[in-house]
Amino acid sequence: MGYKTILIAGSGVLGSQIAFQTALHGFAVTVYDINDEALNRAKARIQDLKPRYRADLGTTEEQAEAALARMTFQSDLAQAAADADLVIESVPESLPIKIEFYQKLAAVAPEKTIFATNSSTLLPSQFAEATGRPEKFLALHFANEIWKNNTAEIMKHATTDEQVFADVVEFAKAIGMVALPLQKEQAGYIVNSLLVPLLSSAQKLLVTGIADVETIDKTWMVATGAPVGPFGMLDIVGINTAYHIARTRAEHTGDAAYQAVADVLKRDYVDQGKLGKATGEGFYKY
Ligand code: NAD
Repeated sequence: MGYKTILIAGSGVLGSQIAFQTALHGFAVTVYDINDEALNRAKARIQDLKPRYRADLGTTEEQAEAALARMTFQSDLAQAAADADLVIESVPESLPIKIEFYQKLAAVAPEKTIFATNSSTLLPSQFAEATGRPEKFLALHFANEIWKNNTAEIMKHATTDEQVFADVVEFAKAIGMVALPLQKEQAGYIVNSLLVPLLSSAQKLLVTGIADVETIDKTWMVATGAPVGPFGMLDIVGINTAYHIARTRAEHTGDAAYQAVADVLKRDYVDQGKLGKATGEGFYKY
């Protein structure tokens, strides 16, 4: 694979985690964001990650400091990209922002640089042209809290080069991820292609009065051996996110069951401030 220098572009929630994780595994990491204020927020976020890595993985202060020493912060894209072997883009989930970012990056990145997007809902083909190098572009998708939920879904689009794909799979393993290759584009990758229908079905069972939260979760857990049921999962995802998904689905499909889900989530949870585990109460109390 031969990558040495990795540029993390966009240093928000996910970008900060990817940057720290990559530096911990020995790579030289440049963190790029739009200005110094955003970079300072990233530095604070990365400091906050240290105790979490210590608690969950036993990462020592020395290891964390060595990782920080391998990181540089840069708000000039040309300088940030100057020697990058791989760019992992984690800028906001907006098509115009991604397109503009890739056009700027394409103008300054060396020919060797591979581009990977961490986009959750947009498909690489939607902005492959803007990269100016579609064959050296693909998706590398992480899950929040990447040190614990260490999936890396690596997804080709139609013209991604095979060697580039193989190299990014190797890179994902090299930073401690479980590499999950997807041979074709798929909205929602594998995780959400499985999870979203499960969670939607659970919510429909609830709002149509088939069974209550505990019964639905218990069914799933006892029948499959899963440690948590769909409503337990929704409390972790956050009920606000679930509400927005249901509302969007209702608008796009006209499906009355999705509308009923959206109405119940808003009235009984979102408007009551019961947003899930993060607020101490959702479908369950914590
Ligand atoms: P975020 O809002 O926390 O961070 C986005 C960062 O991008 C900010 O630091 C912002 O200053 C920066 N930014 C804005 N415009 C930019 C530009 N033009 N160039 C460079 N940086 C710019 O967002 P996030 O949650 O980290 O999500 C980023 C990407 O990661 C999205 O594509 C999202 O779908 C994906 N993702 C998010 C999660 C998650 O759980 N949050 C999980 C997997 C993937």
